[in-house]
This record gives sequence, structure tokens and C-alpha cells, in this order.
Amino acid sequence: MSTTIFKDFQFEAAHHLPHVPKGHKCGRLHGHSFTVRLEITGEVDPFSGWLMDFADVKTVFKPIWEQLDHNYLNEITGLENPTSEVLAKWIWEKLKPLLPQLSAVMVKETCSAGCIYRGK
Ligand SMILES: [Zn+2]
Repeated sequence: MSTTIFKDFQFEAAHHLPHVPKGHKCGRLHGHSFTVRLEITGEVDPFSGWLMDFADVKTVFKPIWEQLDHNYLNEITGLENPTSEVLAKWIWEKLKPLLPQLSAVMVKETCSAGCIYRGK
């Protein structure tokens, strides 16, 4: 039985988007309360009833979260153009080697806007 679990994380960060047309509001320095949802897909262990301990997801993501929270995203290597799309792929590439069952990274920068990256 393939099952997907997810864990949500919040972080606050500043950014601006350097490639938007002149005068676009996203070109100005501003911040978001970002939500990152990590999805993990696999088989549920018949004894534990778990796919994975949520605490283990948190432990693996923590160093990445610390790089992002209360930071200026444009200054982080690989996030010079920190759209949600770029950020989701950046998180995926850092996390996938540590969390092979990772099946999607969702980044929301507002309550109603975000993106989902599922690898290649
Ligand atoms: Zn923004």
C-alpha cells in the first residue's frame, strides 16, 4: 500500500525577484511567511503502522530550514533569483539525497499562491 505523508514547516524570509519587469512589485525588497510542505511516499511498515516518523523528517530538514529562516534568500548560493519555483527545486536537490522517499516539495509564499516540485 503506497502512502504519502506530509509535514509542513514555516519560515520567514526576505527576498526580491531580480528578473521581473521594471516596476513590478516583486522586484522590491519584501518578505513572506513561507510554508514548505514535504511529501514522503512509500510503503507503510505493517508493525509500526508508519511510513516514517515525522520527527525524522524534521531532523533531516532542520539544517536546510536554518539556512532559510530569517535570512535574505537572494544571498544564498543557488537562490539568487528566489522564486517559489526555484526555491522548491533548491530544497528538493538538498533533501532528496538525505530523504530518498521524498516525492514532492511544496512552497507557498502566500495563503493562496505557491508551487509543487516533484523532481524531473
Ligand atoms: Zn515575494
